[in-house]
Amino acid sequence: MLELKDVTTFYGTSQALFGMSLALEAGQVATLLGRNGMGKTTTINSIMGIVPAQGGSITFDGKELRGQSSFRIANLGLGLVPEGRQIFPNLTLRENLVATASNHLDRPDPWTVEKVFALFPELEQRIGSMGNLLSGGEQQMLAIGRALMTNPRLLILDEATEGLAPLVRRKIWAALSSIREQGTSILVVDKNLHDLMRIADRHFIVQRGEVVWQGDSAALQADNEARKNYLGF
Ligand code: ATP
Repeated sequence: MLELKDVTTFYGTSQALFGMSLALEAGQVATLLGRNGMGKTTTINSIMGIVPAQGGSITFDGKELRGQSSFRIANLGLGLVPEGRQIFPNLTLRENLVATASNHLDRPDPWTVEKVFALFPELEQRIGSMGNLLSGGEQQMLAIGRALMTNPRLLILDEATEGLAPLVRRKIWAALSSIREQGTSILVVDKNLHDLMRIADRHFIVQRGEVVWQGDSAALQADNEARKNYLGF
């Protein structure tokens, strides 16, 4: 479904991705793992066209994404939950949800505000609250809902549960499992390896801008050396 081949990305003259290659199959949950500053966010931002990749190819269902605008990439079916959530502070919760709603309703069962509330019931009680008055957990649930409203076939989350209380984290992992059961593929970055191992089909460890290890949760569990070398535990 999504394939990166030898992707190189620079910030000015400083190179951040050094031949990033990975492949994600439809219906899978995949993770990007690795220490801080290794290139996970840059990989996501290159996929989404936010930081344009300079070399290699990024294809989604066979279509080249490299060189396309973020708007067009989103319209092709990629939804992003960005690091830091980026909720519109001066819009209400409902307005945040409908602001990005896709009119590509050709999916058999498109996302609606009601469906987002069924996934995250606590959001409904805050429907008229301004974005900046929501708690961190509410903002993250809203960010996920807002991305779903674009009816993505691949949902990408950068730091899915960063800074959130354990109860909210559990709700988010449960929601991601349910989203996946509904047929949406997921690419996720998070620091909580334990939760990622439960939910993910495949892990990609990123080190200095390239994938240095990949495998399923059982393989990662078994490979003490890879965990210690690349993840620090
Ligand atoms: P983290 O978990 O800390 O977000 P990461 O694995 O997502 O880490 P990136 O944020 O992709 O890593 O960073 C990869 C490299 O690119 C790092 O060396 C970082 O310093 C550099 N970098 C990231 N953003 C910028 C930027 N806007 N300008 C210049 N260099 C950047």
